[in-house]
Amino acid sequence: MNGRYSRQELFSPIGIDGQAKIRTKSVMIVGAGALGAGSAEALTRAGVKRIVLVDRDYVDWTNLQRQQLYSEEDAKRQLPKVVAAKNRLNQINSEVEIQAYVMDMGIEEAEELISGIDLIMDATDNFETRLLINDLAHKYEIPWIYGACVGSYGISYTILPGDGPCLNCLLDKIPANGQTCDTAGIISPAVQMVTAYQTAEALKILVEDYASIRKKIVTFDTWTNQHVQLGMEKAKKVDCPSCGANPTYPYLEKSAALKTAVLCGRDTVQIRPAHTVEINLTEMEKRLLPHGEVRCNPYLLELQSDSHRLVLFKDGRALVHGTKNMAEAKSLYHRYIG
Ligand SMILES: [Zn+2]
Repeated sequence: MNGRYSRQELFSPIGIDGQAKIRTKSVMIVGAGALGAGSAEALTRAGVKRIVLVDRDYVDWTNLQRQQLYSEEDAKRQLPKVVAAKNRLNQINSEVEIQAYVMDMGIEEAEELISGIDLIMDATDNFETRLLINDLAHKYEIPWIYGACVGSYGISYTILPGDGPCLNCLLDKIPANGQTCDTAGIISPAVQMVTAYQTAEALKILVEDYASIRKKIVTFDTWTNQHVQLGMEKAKKVDCPSCGANPTYPYLEKSAALKTAVLCGRDTVQIRPAHTVEINLTEMEKRLLPHGEVRCNPYLLELQSDSHRLVLFKDGRALVHGTKNMAEAKSLYHRYIG
């Protein structure tokens, strides 16, 4: 006993029994950007048993202002976020098992990764993935915690299957003005507030203190000093296809899977092959050398051609930077990758 968790155990709503529960729990964190990095660090320090961390991106210089697990070295090496996160989290608490997945989580991957998971943390940047998480959480009866932030604004809501409205019930009530961190910017206090709300709720769920869970949606603006909590009980829809009496889980249908996507307001298109392939990055590096400047690490390869920058992951997925045009991105993918 080294007293690592003693201050958390002294906090009476957790106590020694609560800490023992936390040590047995597994949490999936979807997204390893600002919110994911914050949640992952807090829950690793809190001493959960296992964290499953999933993200599709790599560390970029624009991330360092707010994504607390990453360093200049990670950005220089273009490490996938989950790889850089795992390195750092292992240094913080070696007792916690960190499982890192470099992937764009689709339905099939999600249903595999969910096994043995007690809680899902939303740290994504898009509603497609959140609605997938929402259906998954209801199908497998796993609590999940919604969180989002942009500018100085943030929002969070805790969803317990079988209790209260779900994200699908609330879709027309959640402000979605299309702003993203890449268009409206973001300041780190907004991230930290959302992370604080999400991880406080996470601790309540992990120690099974369901009576203390916040039933309301919380929204705030750290710059204009607004703070609002909205009751949502009346928003529950009895015929909701995700949480109603006869659920069909529409976002778990294969047709809902996205193969191409323009990423979060950026000049970037993601291309996902229909089937996962294993790409030999060393051979691909040789093949692409005549086409431009090529850089490679064990997880991804970057090709800088005259007009575009293309980043290829081992599973065949690619990010085409410098365009929002899906057709153009696809044609570049076929020209260089096959
Ligand atoms: Zn619902």
